[in-house]
Amino acid sequence: MTKIDDRYGALQLFIAGEWLGAEGRVTEPVLNPATGEPVGLLPHASAADLDRATAAAETAFASWRRVPAYDRAMILRKAANLLRERADHIGRRMTLEQGKPFAEARMEALISADIFDYTADEGRRTYGRIVPARVPGMRWMVTREPVGPVAAFTPWNFPAVIPARKISAALATGCTMVIKPSEETPASVMELARALDDAGLPKGVLNVVYGVPGEVSERLIAAPEIRKITFTGSTSVGQQLAILAAKAGVKRATMELGGHAPVMIFADADVDAAVQALAGAKFRNAGQICIAPTRFYIHEAVHDRFVEGFAAAAEKLKVGDGMDPATTMGPLANPRRITAMQALVEDAVNHGASLRLGGEALGNRGNFFAPTILTDVPDTARIMNEEPFGPIAVTARFQSLDEVIHQANRLPFGLASYAFTRDSATAQALSDRVEAGMLGINNTMINMPETPFGGVKQSGYGSEGGTEGMDAYLVTKTISQS
Ligand code: NAD
Repeated sequence: MTKIDDRYGALQLFIAGEWLGAEGRVTEPVLNPATGEPVGLLPHASAADLDRATAAAETAFASWRRVPAYDRAMILRKAANLLRERADHIGRRMTLEQGKPFAEARMEALISADIFDYTADEGRRTYGRIVPARVPGMRWMVTREPVGPVAAFTPWNFPAVIPARKISAALATGCTMVIKPSEETPASVMELARALDDAGLPKGVLNVVYGVPGEVSERLIAAPEIRKITFTGSTSVGQQLAILAAKAGVKRATMELGGHAPVMIFADADVDAAVQALAGAKFRNAGQICIAPTRFYIHEAVHDRFVEGFAAAAEKLKVGDGMDPATTMGPLANPRRITAMQALVEDAVNHGASLRLGGEALGNRGNFFAPTILTDVPDTARIMNEEPFGPIAVTARFQSLDEVIHQANRLPFGLASYAFTRDSATAQALSDRVEAGMLGINNTMINMPETPFGGVKQSGYGSEGGTEGMDAYLVTKTISQS
């Protein structure tokens, strides 16, 4: 068991119900994004550890699938309560490894608890059905069964909420799981597993492993015990994993991939309300959110007014260490994001965009980047086509509904989208014609445990959350009985 920063705590693997430390294993440091200093040493799972994890998931599946849904729900609900009790502790660990302000991190622990609760109950409602038979005396039934042991891969931006969605839906439906969270934010998932372990989860139902991502995913996906994979991250990695899943035996997959959310602000919009909602949504988690508002298409009549208000709101942000209570925007999660932001800003300016605010790294340690606004950005700039995944908003002007819908649908992504208008015909046209998994009209609240989260086009396939989120872990069986 190795720890460096006492506030952060130890890092371990969780395999077959055992917590395993660094003994004899390769380790890698986990860095605090606010300082660049190590806070902990993360043990990597060896090949033997990975094999033990998949074997444990298979053994546990045989009994976990037979545990009544009610009893599975009770364990998830008990774990949810433990997450609530531990929200301060979990929030602290998350801020130290991911950078987001402590209040946001603590809230993420509470939202994870809420997701556990919702999904636990939804697991009790995964009914089959009886279909009227065509032949007298015959009975047709459709039952739903858990798909089997699942391999899950999760990123660093929401290190508790994204795993919470996958873990809770798998466990509530009777599946078991081996999860490989991001090596950059390992403690948050460990806390979810700890709560489930303390709530009485049987050994092997959930296993947590870390390592070199490409090596771990290749081994887990190929393992014969694994029946399904689920991934959240970039489209390019998702594509690689989908190929591996297909080659390993046409394994089922859920893919939550990149986005590039358009925001359409019409001439009749409540501009002040739009500024308020969008400033919050854009800079939360320093913009490192796949549903972050990104391309701001603003009607030319209100463009300048919106930009002034938005810049004023962005200027009020206090960028700093997430452990400082005054901080409202933390550092970026890793130095790769700083390099990416700098390159995107430079490219946009070279293409003729105007830099209205920010545009540069801040301070001389940690991964801080200023809230940034680029206006009148042409379609040819990289940032109009590649997901920035950072605190940069880009604007362009439009004149007509058709023109802005064309822009919204122009990219091969279709995850989140937003619009601000007071006109119900416009709202209806957008509802019908925007290619996206989620559309927020006059608000940015598009992601609740009760609703499906997922994209179209290269943003992936399958949903998490809502009743749809359970489908990912269930297979159907039709039984005709005479
Ligand atoms: P990346 O594409 O290398 O990694 C994205 C995530 O996938 C990370 O968590 C990483 O650990 C994991 N990963 C990478 N290779 C993997 C593999 N072979 N098997 C399993 N997991 C693997 O890049 P990055 O620098 O971490 O992030 C860059 C981009 O990723 C961002 O710009 C954003 O577009 C995307 N991203 C999306 C989300 C999301 O919520 N959809 C989250 C994080 C990153």
